[in-house]
Amino acid sequence: MPIYYECQRCTACCRWPGQVRLADPDIARISSFLGLSEVDFIQRFTRLRVDRRGLALMDKANGECIFLEENDCRIQAVKPQQCRDFPNRWNFADFEKVCHAVPRRVSEEVYVELLKSRAD
Ligand code: SF4
Repeated sequence: MPIYYECQRCTACCRWPGQVRLADPDIARISSFLGLSEVDFIQRFTRLRVDRRGLALMDKANGECIFLEENDCRIQAVKPQQCRDFPNRWNFADFEKVCHAVPRRVSEEVYVELLKSRAD
């Protein structure tokens, strides 16, 4: 049976160094949620990726995500796909040591449903 990791919203992953890549659908969803044009959103909240092949979210000076407000994500409802996908669709060796998501054994059907609900 597959294991589904249930996020506990501890916000640890919002504080790690790294880059949150933005695809076009992310930009459309987030700018609309914030009531900004896409151009304004891009100018105010994004930067060029390290590989210069697209955009990523800006960080605060301390390395946290620009949208982290205390222990909440300001754009939780429309957060980027990369954030939605962690840790079930991508993760890294020993991520369990720094991520508090709770592993649950679920049936194949439930697993597929849960992944689908995180992908929308
Ligand atoms: S994915 Fe893990 S590290 Fe990120 S908020 Fe959820 S429990 Fe915390």
